[in-house]
Amino acid sequence: MAVTRFHLPVIGSVRPVEGPIGSEPLVDAFARRIRYLRVSVTDRCNYRCSYCMPEELGRDIVFQPRAAVLTFEEIVRLVGVFARLGVRKIRLTGGEPTVRKGIVELVGQVAAVPGIEQVVMTSNGHLLDELAAPLAAAGLSAVNISIDTLDAAKFARLTGRGDLARVLAGLAAARAAGLALKTNAVALRGVNDDELVALCEHAWAHGAVPRFIEHMPLSGGQLYAEHAELPAAAIRRTLERAFGALEPHAPLGHDAGPARYWAVAGHGDVGIISAMSEHFCDDCNRLRLTATGELHACLGHDDAVSLRDIVRAGGSDDDVIRAIAGAVVGKRAGHAFERNGSGAPQKHMIGIGG
Ligand code: SAM
Repeated sequence: MAVTRFHLPVIGSVRPVEGPIGSEPLVDAFARRIRYLRVSVTDRCNYRCSYCMPEELGRDIVFQPRAAVLTFEEIVRLVGVFARLGVRKIRLTGGEPTVRKGIVELVGQVAAVPGIEQVVMTSNGHLLDELAAPLAAAGLSAVNISIDTLDAAKFARLTGRGDLARVLAGLAAARAAGLALKTNAVALRGVNDDELVALCEHAWAHGAVPRFIEHMPLSGGQLYAEHAELPAAAIRRTLERAFGALEPHAPLGHDAGPARYWAVAGHGDVGIISAMSEHFCDDCNRLRLTATGELHACLGHDDAVSLRDIVRAGGSDDDVIRAIAGAVVGKRAGHAFERNGSGAPQKHMIGIGG
């Protein structure tokens, strides 16, 4: 039965596939194979980072009512469908995933889905001091923790409500719990460009792989400032001056994300996510599911289809698969971000989860 009977809210180019589903529904028109799904479990966040969702934007955003957000049962069912299609890695994100009530149980349920090999998380770390051990026990294998600066006062300003000491306690707890660790810093000129070396040294000293992310223009480009952009090449130059040559590294794992990695002799690895200056769309292996069940095939476009509406209208797994296959077929070659901030989607990072 064709899924269009559900009167799907479809944004942009995504259309459910009609007729027979291909044998490889997760291979897109550019031969990219999807094995990785990012699931935002909430659009709420306990921080208000200036480049993501500052207080002003947070006041304007309409947060989703609880009834609009996918239940655990719905998330687990959808993850099961993706796993049947070949997805092996799930990243739980947000908003801030640790503020979702019952997150430990959710990790356990997702980790138990047949076919899922890795459940990982991206977090601001604020609640990890208490949650890292139970999350690891439930099946979480890795966490990426956002630490943009090691200066506590700057951290508090940058994150609006953040507490660096708590985040560092969260990092230590995650390490003690045996989670594989990466740190994420959005690299911004005039904000943390003087800390790139210190952020690397801190991460290595705490058993983590440091990563730097180029700022991307989401939210219609309203938070993007061209003058603040710190391109990957400038980041590498700074690190090479401090540590010597960076040796290009193979991706860390077969389901690695978009970061390019370098080995720094005598220290460890460092990753850079250069979505703007050296984009990596040709290697994109992921889809994104928002907290309200919208499936987005590209971070940089607003195209989406609501899997929640299919499920809540009584759709079968095949109906869900048709919608997923349609999103994959419609997956664009790449984002349209320009370094002047144009080409930005209207969606917010807080809704899609990075
Ligand atoms: N709350 C969690 C956290 O802080 O990591 C997960 C969600 S957050 C949206 C995921 C990642 O996206 C964080 O590392 C954050 O720094 C990054 N991020 C947010 N806005 C960004 C932007 N406009 N460009 C690049 N990265 C961004």
